[in-house]
Amino acid sequence: MPDVRSKALGYLRDGRVTLLTVNTAKHSLRPYAVGAMVQGFQGRYWVRLNAQGWLCSCALAECAHAAAVQLVTGWPSAASKDAKAAEVMA
Ligand SMILES: [Zn+2]
Repeated sequence: MPDVRSKALGYLRDGRVTLLTVNTAKHSLRPYAVGAMVQGFQGRYWVRLNAQGWLCSCALAECAHAAAVQLVTGWPSAASKDAKAAEVMA
């Protein structure tokens, strides 16, 4: 079973991640709202960032769809290199 980082990078590499809406406040380094679609192997998933946080329609605990979207929107992610390194060191 590939880890979250491998899966997230695979989605990006295969062009399976589409950002539909990205809203960013002036001078902010990352968006406060995101809507994205990820074409998974089992189906299509919807990833959203709103005031409540990140949501994915897959409802899996280890979601690589949101992780892939986080990687391209400047948000910390389960797929971040630092997170991975910290995991190995833990
Ligand atoms: Zn997901």
